[in-house]
Amino acid sequence: MKMMNFRRLDPAFQAAGKVGLSQGNRLEEEVWLTFANDREGLARAAAAIRTAINDDAVSVRDDAYEAEEGGLILRLHLSRERNRALVQRKRDQARGRHGLLVCEACEFDFSTVYGELGFGFIEVHHRKPVASLQPGDRTKLEDLALVCANCHRMLHRRSALLSVEDLRMIVGQQRGRLNADAA
Ligand SMILES: [Zn+2]
Ligand SMILES: [Zn+2]
Repeated sequence: MKMMNFRRLDPAFQAAGKVGLSQGNRLEEEVWLTFANDREGLARAAAAIRTAINDDAVSVRDDAYEAEEGGLILRLHLSRERNRALVQRKRDQARGRHGLLVCEACEFDFSTVYGELGFGFIEVHHRKPVASLQPGDRTKLEDLALVCANCHRMLHRRSALLSVEDLRMIVGQQRGRLNADAA
């Protein structure tokens, strides 16, 4: 059907006395205008889309999370965490409180390790799973946690979201163990 939508826009098809599907959306027209005379660009874009679909940094495909909630839900969760205005307010709040952006689970500070490059960098994690949201729920600043990239992945590692406090405890226990081994 999508191919028939494109044929609506294809002069060669119309010249043959045929018509495609008359209904369609603006995006099809945009795609057609962009790629009708650029097959190489089309191939590159298609390859990029395939790569993105297979990129586990985005969809965590073979994770238990995917199996239980589905990739779409995880993507929704991650896209909420990228809500710029909210993320900015959360960062400002943390900076006002102690001047630093440190991971709430392991206390990693990007600027300590990466210098100027890491200054002001931190990820934002949404404590509530998308599935638990009620219609009309609005994200409050306390629903968000500031975490480093490693801790963020660990929070999402299992089918059920790990709490930041539990992860903090795991990190503390591991550090205790490492220190005991070193002694
Ligand atoms: Zn961390
Ligand atoms: Zn998260």
